[in-house]
Amino acid sequence: MNIRLAGDLQSDSIVDGTGVRTVIWTQGCGHHCPNCHNPGTWDFDGGEEVDVDDVIDRINDLECQDGITFSGGDPFYQPAACAVIAKAIRKTKMNIWCYTGFTFEQLLKMSKKDKAIMDFLKNIDVLVDGLFIQRLHSYNLKFRGSSNQRIIDVTKSLKNNKIVLAKLDEYEESSNFGRYDKKGLYI
Ligand code: SF4
Repeated sequence: MNIRLAGDLQSDSIVDGTGVRTVIWTQGCGHHCPNCHNPGTWDFDGGEEVDVDDVIDRINDLECQDGITFSGGDPFYQPAACAVIAKAIRKTKMNIWCYTGFTFEQLLKMSKKDKAIMDFLKNIDVLVDGLFIQRLHSYNLKFRGSSNQRIIDVTKSLKNNKIVLAKLDEYEESSNFGRYDKKGLYI
């Protein structure tokens, strides 16, 4: 199985989740948020196709990384390939973060038609969800671009059937977490 990536894996990131992390930059995003930080990743035909086994081999060779972060682009446009990689990461000691422009609620709804979405979601520890909204942007936000985005403990949220925010060290409290309507749209 192949995955379309925007570029090479990027190790030693300290801004894409807690600790020292390696980022998988997926290619393709249909959200087109105004002032997106990475519009070069929008094109679904851009980047390059890579065999997931090659990505897994690269991950297994990593040293001194606390976790892996799926970013992009939006990884949830390639849930089946991401799920295969995430399951392989589960066999390591590294934790898994994922950034997505979809909300958690939208992903749950989408998963009813596409099993791969739940397959991927179940293998993520922390999900940073929602679109980038420029008017809610602040440089004071940690690990997210705008305050509508939530840093979600996926395991607890799925277990409790409601959104449980992740408890992180140095977690800043000034946010608009939870201000979504029943359709998962920011209000
Ligand atoms: S979801 Fe992320 S990658 Fe996609 S357009 Fe929005 S900010 Fe850019």
